[in-house]
Amino acid sequence: MPLGRHAILMTFRRELPDAETCTGGLLIRVDSANGIAAGQDDQPFTKVATWPAAAQPLGFWEEQAIAVLAEPEPRDWPSARQWLNGWDESRFALLSTALQVVAWQRNHRFCGRCGHSPRRISGEFAMHCDHCGHRNYPRISPCIITLVTHGDDLLLARSPRFPPGRYSTLAGFIEPGEAAEEAVHREVFEEVGVTIGRLRYFGSQSWPFPHSLMLGFFAEATSRRIRIDGVEIADAAWFTPRRLPPLPPSYSISRALIDRFLADRRPR
Ligand SMILES: [Zn+2]
Repeated sequence: MPLGRHAILMTFRRELPDAETCTGGLLIRVDSANGIAAGQDDQPFTKVATWPAAAQPLGFWEEQAIAVLAEPEPRDWPSARQWLNGWDESRFALLSTALQVVAWQRNHRFCGRCGHSPRRISGEFAMHCDHCGHRNYPRISPCIITLVTHGDDLLLARSPRFPPGRYSTLAGFIEPGEAAEEAVHREVFEEVGVTIGRLRYFGSQSWPFPHSLMLGFFAEATSRRIRIDGVEIADAAWFTPRRLPPLPPSYSISRALIDRFLADRRPR
C-alpha cells in the first residue's frame, strides 16, 4: 500500500538472514492451494528450532528470522485472502512476500534456458543454473490499476471472476516496451471504450495473486460512453458517490483508490 512505509520497516525487515549462522526461527507454511497454516496465537507462522532444508528465508519479522516453506499438497488451511482480510500493511507485506517467493519456487523448478535443475543462492532471492549459467529471480509483473472518474462519478467494472455484485477499478498488465501511463490509456480504452485525459499517480502495492506490482493512478475521463469488451469485463457503469456497489476488500489498492477519491471530494 502506498502509505505507512515506516510501519513496514518496523515489523518486516527485508534482509535475508545469514544462511551459515541462522538456521531456524519463525516459519510460514503455504500449501499447494495457497492456504497458510495457523500457528501459535493465530499467527500465520510458528517458531521452529531448525527450518526444513527446503525452507526459504525471507527476512526478519519483529527482529526474528522468518522463512517460508512450500508444502507440496493441499492441506485445507485458511486461504491467503482470508489471512489478509482486515490486516495492516506490514503483515500484508510479509505474506505478500511469502506467497510470491513460493510461487517463484514452484514455477522455476527447472532452468528456463536449458532445462537443468538450478540451485538456490543464499543471501538473495535467486536460483543459479550451473549447467548454462542462467540465473533467475522471482518474477514480478507490473500492472496498472486505475480509478477513472468524471466529475464526481466513478467508473467501476466487474470481472466475471468477482463475487456477485462487486465492482472495482480497472486493471491490466503492462506490455513489453510500454510505459505505465500508456498502459492506463490502452487498458481503459480496450476494456470500457472510454478515453482519458489527465492522469495522477497514486501509489503502488505488491499483489501476491500471483506476483503483480500494482501501480495505481487516478484518471479523468474525457468521454462517458461505455463499450465493454465482454471478455475481461462483464459489466461497467458510472456510479455516484451516494450509490456505490459492493467494493473490493479494504487491503486492496483498488479500495484505497476509491476511498481516497471519495475522501477528497467530501466537503470539509
Ligand atoms: Zn540452465
